[in-house]
Amino acid sequence: MGSTNDNMPDFNLLTDNWDREHLWHPYTSTINPLPTYKVRSAEGAHITLEDGTVLIDGMSSWWCTIHGYNNPAINDAIEEQIKKVAHVMFGGFTHDPAVKLGKMLLEIAPPSMNNIFYADSGSVAVEVAMKMAVQAAISASGDHRKTNFATIRSGYHGDTWNAMSVCDPVTGMHGAFGSALPKRYFAAQPRSRFDGKWDPADFEPMRQLLEDKHKELAGVIIEPIVQGAGGMWFYHPEYLRELRKACDKHGIYLIFDEIATGFWRTGKCFAWEHAGVEPDIMCIGKGLTAGYMTMSAVLTTKSVADTISCGEAGVMMHGPTFMGNPLACAIACRSIELLANQNMESRVAHLNDIMSDELRKAENLEIVADIRTIGSIGVIETAEPVDVGKFQRKCVELGIWVRPFGRNVYIMPPYIISDDDLRTLCKGMITILREL
Ligand code: PMP
Repeated sequence: MGSTNDNMPDFNLLTDNWDREHLWHPYTSTINPLPTYKVRSAEGAHITLEDGTVLIDGMSSWWCTIHGYNNPAINDAIEEQIKKVAHVMFGGFTHDPAVKLGKMLLEIAPPSMNNIFYADSGSVAVEVAMKMAVQAAISASGDHRKTNFATIRSGYHGDTWNAMSVCDPVTGMHGAFGSALPKRYFAAQPRSRFDGKWDPADFEPMRQLLEDKHKELAGVIIEPIVQGAGGMWFYHPEYLRELRKACDKHGIYLIFDEIATGFWRTGKCFAWEHAGVEPDIMCIGKGLTAGYMTMSAVLTTKSVADTISCGEAGVMMHGPTFMGNPLACAIACRSIELLANQNMESRVAHLNDIMSDELRKAENLEIVADIRTIGSIGVIETAEPVDVGKFQRKCVELGIWVRPFGRNVYIMPPYIISDDDLRTLCKGMITILREL
């Protein structure tokens, strides 16, 4: 393809090395970067590389492409909306996609949710949720010391400053940022398995922490049921019931980070449903816009929202440029419609059956420490950390796409994946682990 402007080089002709020399990829060294593969196109559950290699997608591009790539219904929603208005500031304006999405979200959210704040990404949603909790806690108590947060170990909440501060202090990014991060309180990770027996001792560290520190705590933030990027661990719903009681006892806001778990990933529309306890504030993102655009939302109760409005500032102190972006809202509406038109509970249960059946075959491999599934998430935990570069080279050879981290080799495919593709994906993971 020729250049469109005689004074400009043909940017399409620049070599692949340009990427390596100039573009940062996530968590990547500029000196010794992991390999990257150039994508030409993607359709359904398949990603096609520049050289024509087709990969079965096991990652949903980090949990978000829930309906697969190049989805005709969502493409149509974008076309319809882009002809009306792609973006307009949310300060002083509103529009149909934002209102429609808000109504749809309140239909599927925990019943006590009433107010919605649209934000840019998962991490920003976490920032907003933490700011909400602090503003509401100070307003409710009149105590300016009630500004800190507690959480559990092995959590992950994003890469921005406050989000990082509540990620696991060891496996998260605390090491690199040291004392620059605000100091948070961490209780031990619950060890009772989601599908196992509840051990009441699991909650004791958090109970003690909240007893000791409640005067300084605005909130507790936690990923309900599934801890994602901090360790792919599924814990017992009873933990959340105990946590809800303890937060109520001490006047601490409970924040559920449902950014990874939302939109049926765990087999329920949202993971709080496994425990039947509602948060005061809830973050959603990722699957919200089906992998098409970045957008997140923070939902809260009328009580929290009005408490903030009665505080010193009198307003919620946040207002990003792309807040309530009409295109993103239109995409989210269409995505939720697609979910509502299927029996998602049985669809995800079906994917779970296949994954459980296939992944179980890795049981006897020496490298395998644990196998677990929930909803459409399948995890093989290994005894030793996996070499990501090596693993991914093998994936590309086998025509699958899986990106492990640490000791977790896991998949969460698009919900539209075929049974055959899902089996191939699982078998491929096991083949690679066997070779490693
Ligand atoms: N919270 C959770 C539970 C997440 O899994 C993630 C992303 N992996 C985030 C927050 C941050 O979202 P984002 O990458 O969109 O900022």
